Amino acid sequence: MPVLDHIGIAVDSIDEQLGFYEALGLAAEGFEEVDEQGVRVAFLPVGDSRLELLEATGPSSPIARHLERRGAGLHHICLRVDDIRKAMDSLRVKGYQLLSEEPQQGAHGCLVCFVHPKSSGGVLLELSQKME
Ligand code: ZN
Repeated sequence: MPVLDHIGIAVDSIDEQLGFYEALGLAAEGFEEVDEQGVRVAFLPVGDSRLELLEATGPSSPIARHLERRGAGLHHICLRVDDIRKAMDSLRVKGYQLLSEEPQQGAHGCLVCFVHPKSSGGVLLELSQKME
């Protein structure tokens, strides 16, 4: 069964937004740049899940476009699955739309795929599989 891996939040600046979460007692466990997605991310553990702060690394980044259109705020939720290709096939055969044909490289070496918000009721949904 999928579990809630993280909630993605688009921010103008990770460094500027971190203070807010630190005031709540949360701490970033690491920073990472994901070139494939044009983002810099910071993960903040919250119980068994995490918040993922997303900052654009360039003007063509999907996060830059999101910030332009909607400003900072909730960006996506991520469900972790055991087998991302199986999950993608299971959605595709039922006619749900994915944003990529193949899984892509995500943060922490995970394989990720996004589901089209039209298929997931207006929520940008990320599927993720841990690669060990
Ligand atoms: Zn994410």
